[in-house]
Amino acid sequence: MVKVSDSSCIGCGACQALVGEVFDINDDGYAYVREDANIEKYEEEINDAIENCPTGAISKED
Ligand code: SF4
Repeated sequence: MVKVSDSSCIGCGACQALVGEVFDINDDGYAYVREDANIEKYEEEINDAIENCPTGAISKED
């Protein structure tokens, strides 16, 4: 399960740019995980997004 913390996200859009199939930006300007996201298919890209998020807002749990 992949999550974005609203309180940490600054809406920079880096995660969406890296893997728009998984992350999108909501009307408030914060990232969220798309309901139709294929977490297994994009595992590598999600790890990149986690590493590149400037505020560490993305987390992953098994
Ligand atoms: S990379 Fe991090 S701070 Fe930037 S939009 Fe995504 S979750 Fe938010």
